Amino acid sequence: MISVPKGTKDVLPQDSYKWQYVENAARGIAREFNIKEIRTPVFEHTELFARGVGETTDVVTKEMYTFEDKGGRSVTLKPEGTAGAVRLFIENGLANSPLPLKAFYIAPCYRYERPQAGRLREFHQFGIEVFGSAEPEADAEVISAASLFLDRLGIKDVALEINSIGCGSCRAEYNKALKEYFAPRLGEMCPTCKERFDKNPLRMLDCKEEACKAICAGAPKILDHLCPDCRAHFEKVKSLLGALGIKYTVNPDIVRGLDYYTRTVFEFVSTSIGAQGTVCGGGRYDNLIEELGGAKTPAIGFAAGLERLLLLMENTGIEIPPAGTPDIYIAGMDEASRLKAFRIAGELRAQGICAECDKMARSVKAQLKFADKIGAKYVAVIGENELANGECAIKRMSTGESEQVGSGIFPPI
Ligand code: ATP
Ligand code: MG
Repeated sequence: MISVPKGTKDVLPQDSYKWQYVENAARGIAREFNIKEIRTPVFEHTELFARGVGETTDVVTKEMYTFEDKGGRSVTLKPEGTAGAVRLFIENGLANSPLPLKAFYIAPCYRYERPQAGRLREFHQFGIEVFGSAEPEADAEVISAASLFLDRLGIKDVALEINSIGCGSCRAEYNKALKEYFAPRLGEMCPTCKERFDKNPLRMLDCKEEACKAICAGAPKILDHLCPDCRAHFEKVKSLLGALGIKYTVNPDIVRGLDYYTRTVFEFVSTSIGAQGTVCGGGRYDNLIEELGGAKTPAIGFAAGLERLLLLMENTGIEIPPAGTPDIYIAGMDEASRLKAFRIAGELRAQGICAECDKMARSVKAQLKFADKIGAKYVAVIGENELANGECAIKRMSTGESEQVGSGIFPPI
């Protein structure tokens, strides 16, 4: 017996309506915010993520599904959606389209992580990217799209945390302050942090080791090192969120796990799904497009993890409307009436009605039992009399009431 790979999950027929519900909510939000869908390949050149996501991130150093294809190229299954979206934006000259350009995706992502609740090796993200605006209005709109999406799903148990991690110039100052703080404590920190100390001290703040976390708690805060422009930008984002009635707290410890962020970063966090509480994360990335070879273009986006959202909805008792059941089951008895049932089912389907009939050579009794099991709303039985007089009774299963209909007259569903 071959089993599903570790860290991946099947979606079963009886559960797929939950996924469709969440995906439909995402598409609804995209429509209301005038955001168009994009689709990028599941795999990209490894270099895109190495450069895009960042050489010092956990994602790139530990988690990528990288392999050589038969042509000897190094390719990687996408660990996140932004790098591919940026490549698409650059490669297709979308900087020449009316800006800002707003795009969304619903796509699988791959990270070689230790599987646990809310952490998988294949997971799915709904993400939005807005290219071309440096203005705080773009930040607030993107955050409000995420907020409305969670609202739409009925999720209440989630808190928005925001921070600003500044631009290149405040970051340089801040990195200096971080190095001063970490230098005398480096001996007690993990090997990864030691490496990051030289390459990217900011990333040390994202370490998951307990000893490092304790040291990081006392580190200088980026918010105390923002330049006047970044400070004003952050103030405006906060006031716009206030104007939209979106509640948030400022959490100066959010730095996010990917290197490309600048200025605004944010997370929607829940306490109902255990340690992996971040259901949605995002931020501004004003340098990424240029770093990946495009013209300097500011941008901001977010990604929400669909598995974590579904887990949160389940844990907090949010009911997802069940999938539809067949409108009608048409049962047949002998060869001739079975053929008739088969043909009626075909005609009904052509009219957009969900119709079922027997494909198991079952007795009428067994067919009716099956119709009940699959939740058919109406049942019709075609027998000799029905064939002879061109009429049959259809029974509404919820009430048990029957009514007589002529051939060609189909139930009022
Ligand atoms: P975490 O700190 O939980 O590892 P992250 O910072 O690596 O998250 P992002 O790269 O920001 O996550 O991805 C955005 C969202 O995608 C997360 O908030 C989460 O909902 C989801 N996500 C990320 N990694 C996984 C995973 N391995 N399994 C399931 N969902 C994930
Ligand atoms: Mg992670």
